[in-house]
Amino acid sequence: AMYEAKKQGRGKAVFFQPGMHVQVLNIMRMESDLRKAFEREEFCLFYQPIISLENRHTVSLEALLRWRHPEKGLIPPDRFIPLAEDTGLIRELGLWVLETSCRQLREWQNLFPHHEQLGMNVNVSPVQLKQPRLVREVQDIIDRTGLSPQSCRMEITESAMMNDPDLMLNVLRDLKGLEVQLYVDDFGTGYSSLSYLQKFPIDALKIDKSFIQSIDASDKSMQIAQAIIALGNAFDLRVVAEGVETNTQLDILQASHCHHVQGYYFSRPTDTETTENYLSIVVH
Ligand code: C2E
Ligand code: CA
Ligand code: CA
Repeated sequence: AMYEAKKQGRGKAVFFQPGMHVQVLNIMRMESDLRKAFEREEFCLFYQPIISLENRHTVSLEALLRWRHPEKGLIPPDRFIPLAEDTGLIRELGLWVLETSCRQLREWQNLFPHHEQLGMNVNVSPVQLKQPRLVREVQDIIDRTGLSPQSCRMEITESAMMNDPDLMLNVLRDLKGLEVQLYVDDFGTGYSSLSYLQKFPIDALKIDKSFIQSIDASDKSMQIAQAIIALGNAFDLRVVAEGVETNTQLDILQASHCHHVQGYYFSRPTDTETTENYLSIVVH
């Protein structure tokens, strides 16, 4: 009841109700399941290619977390990341994602010399960014895996960046000091201050998939996507469109001179083995 009252805002009183007991038990069970899952190594990464529209080369892969639950099967990240963030597990889990994906990329760069320029995009939670140790830990992972830092691309959502822009400015500058690349994820859904956007040491914007998915049906979405591409060009940032599913969407993005694309049209996120197979087949 206390948590519910807090959620509803200051000065609220909430009576305990029997249903709440079940809710709390569910959350507690899920929390302990998550921790056990981490210890039992039930998490795994799927990878989705990012393709350049200039030459159709695969330029990067985005690492996407999955929970391989022994009974429930593959659980998507939206179902457990918020809880991992609440409990703090995301710090360890996030580092695991970074280390595993960087090590995997290094292995693929070695295995396929024609992919030696390939990058890895990794999602970073705002909770991780508030950890003072993060920069040091990222540095250690880069050193340990022997990856060139430019191939490590950290994705941070626009809303996370703008939530506490002064703090972010410092964190992003420190990360940039390691020469990793910084991507703004879900761009267009937050409320960016253009003056901060100019100050942040970022390399790329990812247009949120909600705009791409209606780009062929709504003039407004098309204009928003084109405005983001123009903004990217003005600030000298790469622009990636995510959630490309159809040929029409792709044609519009190509005509709008979008730099990179990602989406089911090219490939769904796939497990390690399938991704390795993909990399062995595509020559660029
Ligand atoms: P995101 O970073 O925006 O990732 C893109 C999501 O869109 C992925 O969902 C991907 O599978 C999906 N997607 C890709 N192409 C298409 C398409 O053409 N159509 C549609 N409808 N969807 C497409 P996924 O893998 O379920 O991940 C959801 C979110 O979970 C991610 O959104 C990201 O915010 C978060 N996430 C995933 N992995 C991690 C991680 O390792 N750490 C953290 N902190 N967050 C993660
Ligand atoms: Ca992302
Ligand atoms: Ca996104």
